[in-house]
Amino acid sequence: MQTKILRINPITPQISKIRQASKIIKSGNLVAFPTETVYGLGANALDPKSIKKIFEVKGRPSDNPLIIHISDVADLGMLVVHIPDTAYKLIDKFWPGPLTLVLKKSKIVPKITTGGMNTVAVRMPENKIAQILIRESGVPIAAPSANISGRPSPTTSEHVLDDLSGKISMIIDGGKTKIGIESTIVDLSKKNPMLLRPGSVTLEQLQDVIGKITIHPILQERKTKLVHRSPGMKYRHYSPNAKIILIEGSKDKANDKILHLLAQFKKQGKKVGVMSTENFVYDSDVTIFIGSNFDVIAANLFKTFREFDARKVDIVLACGINRKGLGLGIMNRLGKAAYKKIKV
Ligand code: AMP
Ligand code: MG
Repeated sequence: MQTKILRINPITPQISKIRQASKIIKSGNLVAFPTETVYGLGANALDPKSIKKIFEVKGRPSDNPLIIHISDVADLGMLVVHIPDTAYKLIDKFWPGPLTLVLKKSKIVPKITTGGMNTVAVRMPENKIAQILIRESGVPIAAPSANISGRPSPTTSEHVLDDLSGKISMIIDGGKTKIGIESTIVDLSKKNPMLLRPGSVTLEQLQDVIGKITIHPILQERKTKLVHRSPGMKYRHYSPNAKIILIEGSKDKANDKILHLLAQFKKQGKKVGVMSTENFVYDSDVTIFIGSNFDVIAANLFKTFREFDARKVDIVLACGINRKGLGLGIMNRLGKAAYKKIKV
């Protein structure tokens, strides 16, 4: 299959061109498209045959549920059995935007879409191309990140092409995604709201709107039997081929550790990369300054993982950041990508 690239201006999207992509969705096939978080791999959320293709193309385990994207808040009603007050409050404040809500699913949502669960994850993206694609397709669109399972999420159409060329009908190229890490996920299907995945809608912002919210034990790196509340969490993710060593501690101590490990691995003949949030100079084979501001770090994170791979680095030394605000989401992705974590 030839993968067609459709270039769309993200600021003034041409609706007539996007209709070509909607046709593909309506005919039961797959289209990768930009959202404000990462590129998604979309299919008709209500059609089991279309959804099966997403799992096959990504090599995604069948118990890892998909997020359904809608273009109108009114469409939430048909996907869920009940919308609690907490959901209305969060929707009012954060939709359209990078916040996914998990609620009890209605009968029209096929089990294959939810990985066999009785709940469904829904979000309304802010990206104009995504909104028009969903609206013109006339169906809610299920879309996981448009990468091969386990690889870093794509933040450009080139990343999607690297992973899925020849495997899907179309990629809409709408430029680099704004946020760079996936949506925040909150489970509202039980009595107590629970944060399942941190993202650019921060824990602090959520607390401001709905008060108390429990953090899933896995996010606190605690052992738990609650894995079933977010099946995707048990899988290793976002991993480049290079082995990431994540070093956490005070800036000075972490930097000393990086210098020490760098010398040690170089002696062993390894090709070593440093991913740095400070503009320091290292004697490494590849040094990537990822930014010092959290918004910039998030926007560059997955692209940087892919760049280390392209430059065939064996080991990446990365230092941790503060877990406040967007820092919690960034550290969650770094932690999941890491081969080893060291506290100094
Ligand atoms: P991705 O779209 O690849 O970022 O993955 C979506 C993630 O959303 C999954 O890995 C799950 O962790 C989470 N998710 C989707 N649906 C549900 C659900 N019904 N309950 C809990 N978590 C969900
Ligand atoms: Mg993903």
